[in-house]
Amino acid sequence: MEIESMVANSALVRAREGDKGRSWKWREMLRFPHINQCMDLAMNIERNYYSLCVKQPIGKKLFQLFCRSRPYLQNYISLQDALDTFETKSDEERRDFGITIIQRFLRSQSIQCVSIVLKYEQSCIENLEYDPCGDVFHDCREYLNRYLSGEPFIQYQESMFFDRFLQWKMVERSPITKNMFRQYRLLGKGGFGEVWACQARATGRMYACKKLDKTHVKKRRGEGMALNEKEILESLDSRFVVNLAYAYETKHALCMVLTMLSGGDLKFHIYNIGAPGLDIKRVQFYAAEVYCGLIHLHQKSIVYRDLKPENILLADNGHIRISDLGLAVRLYEGKLVRGRVGTLGYMAPEVIGNEHYGMCVDWWGLGCLVYEMTAGKPPFREHGEHPRPLEMERRIHDDQEEYDDKFSKQVKDLCSSLLNKDPNQRLGSEGGIAVQSHPFFKKLNFRMLEAGLVEPPFKPDPRLVYCSDVQDIEEFSTVKGVTLDQTDDNFYSKFNTGSIPITWQNEILETGCFKELNVFGPEGSRSPDLDY
Ligand code: ADP
Ligand code: MG
Ligand code: MG
Repeated sequence: MEIESMVANSALVRAREGDKGRSWKWREMLRFPHINQCMDLAMNIERNYYSLCVKQPIGKKLFQLFCRSRPYLQNYISLQDALDTFETKSDEERRDFGITIIQRFLRSQSIQCVSIVLKYEQSCIENLEYDPCGDVFHDCREYLNRYLSGEPFIQYQESMFFDRFLQWKMVERSPITKNMFRQYRLLGKGGFGEVWACQARATGRMYACKKLDKTHVKKRRGEGMALNEKEILESLDSRFVVNLAYAYETKHALCMVLTMLSGGDLKFHIYNIGAPGLDIKRVQFYAAEVYCGLIHLHQKSIVYRDLKPENILLADNGHIRISDLGLAVRLYEGKLVRGRVGTLGYMAPEVIGNEHYGMCVDWWGLGCLVYEMTAGKPPFREHGEHPRPLEMERRIHDDQEEYDDKFSKQVKDLCSSLLNKDPNQRLGSEGGIAVQSHPFFKKLNFRMLEAGLVEPPFKPDPRLVYCSDVQDIEEFSTVKGVTLDQTDDNFYSKFNTGSIPITWQNEILETGCFKELNVFGPEGSRSPDLDY
């Protein structure tokens, strides 16, 4: 490895370790505006309980702090906390933990009893008996939220806690520029530009910044595609799909700041470490997590269309996320789409045939992925073989993929059901649940998997950088002879919307910045920035 690469790698490895990356000016970067400067926002923000107090992490936190400050609401919020904790318990712990919740909050004799939900005691006990892994407290939680969204929510909006929420929202909405990030090494190259490791200076959090070169986008009429990728990403919130944290522009590029996935892509893991292919435990785990990501997309009527090992990235904790949503498309009113897009070797027969298609193309993609992880080669060609497009199409249409003795009976059955050439006969064609129920996944606990509670079978080495050396990634040239003008600004302003609320709020909470900055006056009084 060349010295330049070693220096770039060690800078990145050091930045990834711990939270030492905050700028010395971080407090100033996150400074609250005075509450008087939040009045426009106060007038215009949608007063929706679910959005303000459940979905947005800082919103939820401040609403809870408000409830904790009112003696009559304390038990309500302790119950809410307990219900959240219940969802992080393993299957074995759920019954006992569920019983303590019932004893503490749903019994009139208990000092912590929450009177409005007492009526659910019997049904919760029955649910717990019947199946502790089901949604035992569903009705109880709904009713609790219904109560909190009434009078307590009204009082919250008149409290200093809501004023503080408005201040955080103002910080969240400040314009994003490239100076807010420190840049590390180049991670990879894409169709419209490069992806760099970067770090938010205010919090020290590491991200990957995908830069789309403006001249390239214009030359190849990529505006719709760039906006599509950005808008789809910001509408998602899944632990199995990359999160978008910021969208901003520089003079030369449009930038998407994404979850940093530093464990390498599955292509690297299949081919570059030992004999090609992965062991069955990893195949099963990655296939199941990809399945969860696809289900999340499909539930939002989004077809992914680009499933292949290169696009599945590992986080440093060993979990995967689906990345590169450039080809994803939303189906409106359940209508099918058309379009020969994707990567030829992984396209389903109905895509190649230019037919109308729906979610099923992703189940074909999952079949290709499971096949490739198991065999150490893709289904219809050898690794490194590049048949001509027409030959590739013929094989996908006509050839039966082959299964050698690396395939157990179950994995072979899964692959051949997913690689059914007829989309209407394909596993998953009547809903993803059929895929999850396949015997190959029999030993996997999907409830725990979806909650992120299953331990990954492999953890990337934190001292390694799992991507090509810097000088081996081809340089990206800007296109000459393309001029950017006024008409482009309209598109840029749609793209350049700044922080994405949920991801940004999680960054603030998880890096500890919230805790350090969210202080009030002595004995619960207002601080000067909150004094009207
Ligand atoms: P394109 O849509 O142009 O193909 P990608 O989104 O696939 O661009 O990104 C190009 C390359 O950058 C990927 O192959 C990968 O090596 C790297 N990369 C992309 N996103 C991330 C990420 N979130 N974390 C780490 N590396 C990434
Ligand atoms: Mg890509
Ligand atoms: Mg792409």
